[in-house]
Amino acid sequence: MTTAMVEKYKAFHRLLNKTSRTLVDRRFRQQGQCARGGSAASGLDHRPDAVVEQRVSYLGCPKRGLWTSARASLPSLVDGGFARDYPMNRCRSFGSVAGEIQRSSKFATLNSDDVAHFKEILGERNVVQDERLEAANSDWMHKYVGSSRILLLPKSTDEVSRILKYCNSRCLAVVPQGGNTGLVGGSVPVFDEVIINMALMKQVISFDKISGILVCEAGCILEDLISFLDNQGFVMPLDLGAKGSCQIGGNVATNAGGLRLIRYGSLHGNVLGLEVVLANGDVLDMLGTLRKDNTGYDLKHLFIGSEGSLGIITKVSILTPPKLSSVNIAFLACQDYLSCQKLLLEAKRSLGEILSAFEFMDSVAMDVVLNNLDGVRNPLAPTAHNFYVLIETTGTEESYDKEKLEKFLVGSMESGLISDGVLAQDINQASAFWRLREGVPESLQRAGAVYKYDLSLPVEKMYDLVVEMRARLGESVKVVGYGHLGDGNLHLNISAPKYDDAILAQIEPFVYEWTSNHRGSISAEHGVGLMKANKIFYSKSPEAVQLMASIKKLVDPKTILNPYKVLPHSLMSYS
Ligand SMILES: Cc1cc2nc3c(=O)[nH]c(=O)nc-3n(C[C@H](O)[C@H](O)[C@H](O)COP(=O)(O)OP(=O)(O)OC[C@H]3O[C@@H](n4cnc5c(N)ncnc54)[C@H](O)[C@@H]3O)c2cc1C
Repeated sequence: MTTAMVEKYKAFHRLLNKTSRTLVDRRFRQQGQCARGGSAASGLDHRPDAVVEQRVSYLGCPKRGLWTSARASLPSLVDGGFARDYPMNRCRSFGSVAGEIQRSSKFATLNSDDVAHFKEILGERNVVQDERLEAANSDWMHKYVGSSRILLLPKSTDEVSRILKYCNSRCLAVVPQGGNTGLVGGSVPVFDEVIINMALMKQVISFDKISGILVCEAGCILEDLISFLDNQGFVMPLDLGAKGSCQIGGNVATNAGGLRLIRYGSLHGNVLGLEVVLANGDVLDMLGTLRKDNTGYDLKHLFIGSEGSLGIITKVSILTPPKLSSVNIAFLACQDYLSCQKLLLEAKRSLGEILSAFEFMDSVAMDVVLNNLDGVRNPLAPTAHNFYVLIETTGTEESYDKEKLEKFLVGSMESGLISDGVLAQDINQASAFWRLREGVPESLQRAGAVYKYDLSLPVEKMYDLVVEMRARLGESVKVVGYGHLGDGNLHLNISAPKYDDAILAQIEPFVYEWTSNHRGSISAEHGVGLMKANKIFYSKSPEAVQLMASIKKLVDPKTILNPYKVLPHSLMSYS
């Protein structure tokens, strides 16, 4: 027997020894502990600059929450009295459009009458002109910085409607904002747009325990909804690393994908209805709770993924599946990318309906996590592994699920697809494994400047781009590949000590051309925002983009809603 084979069999037995328990800790379930781990109840109720460590949450219980600094994206709500003098034309961005755009002169500039009017609608307290503006003007990565002089916090649909009606009549540009965790510069002003943050609209309106249909306001934090549903014995069909801060309205506006898409599908399938306020203040009631409704065009789909460019989402109705009790997580190592692909195919084949996540990260991503996050460790033996895969199964039959998973793992080990692996034995291990994968964006953020690309590509080609990018950029930067392998979604991240136009010129347009040549999408889930507004043609035909622009002009003729974003500037009259 060769040394390699001995090592393989050792790893195999180590794995087998660990397959004897399922994850969901019974103690935990019996106690039904689903109290919030974090402190914040809204996107604005955060401690400034703090990285708030939360209790780990797992499937519905909020203990697997990311320890993300996204939690701390905006300071707490306190009354403030002074207006900071932001330079109105400030627009700092390190994305694709850096330096390319000018403020449109067609938009009015905020004056004291406007402020007085907003105070009349919202009251003094919810018209913010103090230091909290700084956080609202800057995105999670501190990559896009606007210069808005006002942040509005409506508490009802009627208030949103009155604000928009007024802004439209005055031609004041507006940026809708949720948890401000977006990664493409969509959630912050480019120049001096009025910021409308939905954090105070955070009520659960109804939950039907028979159908699993949840109706809530757009400002509900995703993690709060996960906790709420857990208490009801249901799960949110959506989960992502920024859950502690992002809002359901923001999720719908970006058509967020995340960690459960492989199992539950996209929000286009799960969102049953929306209430939206249009630019002129009209309230569009599409808040249906029906699974079937074929009365003409299904307009809600226009707003799912519209990134605040067509209207402000104020209420959401969403179909949620029942919580299942048997959950297992395996953290595995593969020697090469081909093995990861084969493992995915095998997992789909062997695990079938119980497969609920298939995530991957390369060894560079793992190093960045281990070097930048506190309290994490690689659960596998410290041999050099090139790729790591996290597999989660969720089902109803503990013994059946376990048997299925064990058979799959043993088969994969024997056929050499897996070089090492562990199965979480309790909730803490499960959280620790998820923490490694979910911690990648946060650790990259801590490591310095990050150039982020979120691409849909054929799975077999996906990692070639990482390899080519590494060869192109050399040793001075770290090129990291990770993502939702099960959905063909690569997060290509380039980590550098600081933002540098020379690096950007090496990356773009190469990354977009490569993706387009492989018939991929330049935005799998993060959206277009400001970053890719002028790059949309890499993924959409001119005819499709033209139709999008026509729809935009129809519903928002003055283009006050999130200007400069989503659509190419050549098609919009911003000058
Ligand atoms: C650590 C981390 C992990 C992430 N992981 C994922 C992931 O796995 N999958 C994924 O898809 N994304 C991910 N993201 C990106 C981001 O969290 C999602 O895009 C999320 O859906 C944004 O929600 P938000 O409330 O923060 O919206 P914001 O960031 O505030 O806004 C995003 C866009 O939506 C618009 N918008 C917000 N609220 C509304 C509203 N009520 N009505 C109309 N328009 C609105 C804004 O104008 C903006 O264009 C991650 C981000 C971070 C920081």
